[in-house]
Amino acid sequence: MICCDAHCHLGSRQFDEDRDQMIGRMLKDDVKKAIIICCSEHDLEVGLELRKKYPSFKLAMAIHPQDLEDDHSEKRLLDFEEKVKEVRPDMIGEIGLDYYSHPHTKDYQIEFFKRQLDIAETYHLPVDIHCRKAANDTYEILRKSSALGIIHSYSGSIEMARQYMKLGYYISFGASVLFKGARKPKEVIEKMPLERLLIETDAPYQSPVIGQRHEPKDVKRIYEAIASIKGMELSELCEIVEHNFDEVFKG
Ligand SMILES: [Zn+2]
Repeated sequence: MICCDAHCHLGSRQFDEDRDQMIGRMLKDDVKKAIIICCSEHDLEVGLELRKKYPSFKLAMAIHPQDLEDDHSEKRLLDFEEKVKEVRPDMIGEIGLDYYSHPHTKDYQIEFFKRQLDIAETYHLPVDIHCRKAANDTYEILRKSSALGIIHSYSGSIEMARQYMKLGYYISFGASVLFKGARKPKEVIEKMPLERLLIETDAPYQSPVIGQRHEPKDVKRIYEAIASIKGMELSELCEIVEHNFDEVFKG
């Protein structure tokens, strides 16, 4: 059995102390495929090492929408494209819009989102999309781009999910299904077609236990919760999600 973690920050400084052990735990618990999201120089450096060591890990790189306060220059975008050429990531992400945490950088976010979608198109790479309190703008921008990929940590309605799926996107769910009283994500998952479903931790972030560091090995709990919502065996769900994960990178 293989569990895929469709979004985790393995290069995060929060894992600097015990990264090897953390990856050991992850592999032992069947989490053998993952997308490593790298949105800083440090994370990218670590991510590149990990991709070399574990060929089943995919590498995504991007300028994060929350990271545009200090530098939103044209040069930053040009440097980013140079780095993409040099590094050859498997994906561009996470990119998108975050009007919840950073409403004041909205205009820069839109610009950087569009430009990174263009880069993904140019290099034929899938994308990983971050969207918070910006569903309409995100959808309108994606609709005009031919890039495809994953909507990460989805928390919207089934109607919106259907719109993204119509464009060709996969929808990825995180630990929110584990919260007691999490009615909405459960209802959305009930209605989600399996062939568009992905599962992720966003580790070290979005732990189901407030204040605790999230680890990719914990993705299994999310699989179990979703398998029970769907009324299916865990192994069957793992197989379907692994197939979806591989499809994202087939282009
Ligand atoms: Zn993330």
